[in-house]
Amino acid sequence: MQILDGKLVSQKVKNDLKEKVEERRKKGLKLPHLAAVLVGNNGASETYVASKVKSCAEIGFTSTLIRLEADTPEEVLLEKIGELNSDVDVDGILVQLPLPKHISEQKVIEAILPSKDVDGFHPESVGRMVQGLPTYFPATPYGILLLLEHYKIATAGLHAVVIGRSNIVGRPISILLSRSDYPGNCTVTVCHSQTRNLKEICLQGDIIIAALGKPGFLKSDMVKDGAVIIDVGITRVADSTKKSGFSIKGDVDFEAIAPKSSFITPVPGGVGLMTIAALLMNTFKACTAKEI
Ligand code: NAD
Repeated sequence: MQILDGKLVSQKVKNDLKEKVEERRKKGLKLPHLAAVLVGNNGASETYVASKVKSCAEIGFTSTLIRLEADTPEEVLLEKIGELNSDVDVDGILVQLPLPKHISEQKVIEAILPSKDVDGFHPESVGRMVQGLPTYFPATPYGILLLLEHYKIATAGLHAVVIGRSNIVGRPISILLSRSDYPGNCTVTVCHSQTRNLKEICLQGDIIIAALGKPGFLKSDMVKDGAVIIDVGITRVADSTKKSGFSIKGDVDFEAIAPKSSFITPVPGGVGLMTIAALLMNTFKACTAKEI
């Protein structure tokens, strides 16, 4: 069993980007600029945005954090996105989800210019991904690809079982793993809350991507020996031993499954860190794409 170390791989991605940024600085070229919009003060969202902004600073990207009150009207947020779209210095825009209930996430996603859509959620980005055209891949699935690639995990012809069909994780990773490229060329089964015989399907999985948000859901008796296990789940579970009052749990029963897997991601320290690395990759690409 080998741990897929998101800390190590994300740091490598960041180091590579830092070098590239330094080269650009020496040549007097524009530095990548990410604008992050946070509406309200959801604890998890605050943490995610803070680590994205911190990562930008670490590698020499410019970042702008725009904080809006939880009761900000939808039109005000859309106007802000309009301003960021027309700001030539801003390369990438991310609006941290989830948004307060009175704001349509779909409208917000569609308001972001596809050329600045570093989260890869715009229907145009998704359509291009489906057709295998150059685009920004959604950060979490892209981070998973970067991990598989780093550890040179063979994927062609394997059966990948994806648990979850959300627009940000399950659906896009299922598309990317089935594409004719590396990592990819898998036979993919997408499972969801209505799937029957989930255990039997999981037992066929050479690669299992667990992305449903239910701590410890994937049990040892659902996994065959030697499977590659990617745990996307991040759930805050009350934990009085922690200063914060909670600990982060993945969707996989790690202790029981790790010994029988070939590769496995820990939580924390796996896919979460890769998501940020992938977002930074997309932002760098958004900055340099204009020069081609
Ligand atoms: P979501 O709630 O949008 O989707 C969950 C999916 O799981 C749904 O498609 C649902 O059909 C499926 N599901 C629910 N119960 C099921 C069951 N019993 N059997 C099979 N399928 C079931 O969630 P999401 O936004 O895709 O996030 C999933 C998890 O990944 C969450 O814990 C989230 O916090 C985490 N996440 C992590 C990262 C990261 O960077 N690591 C990024 C995004 C989301």
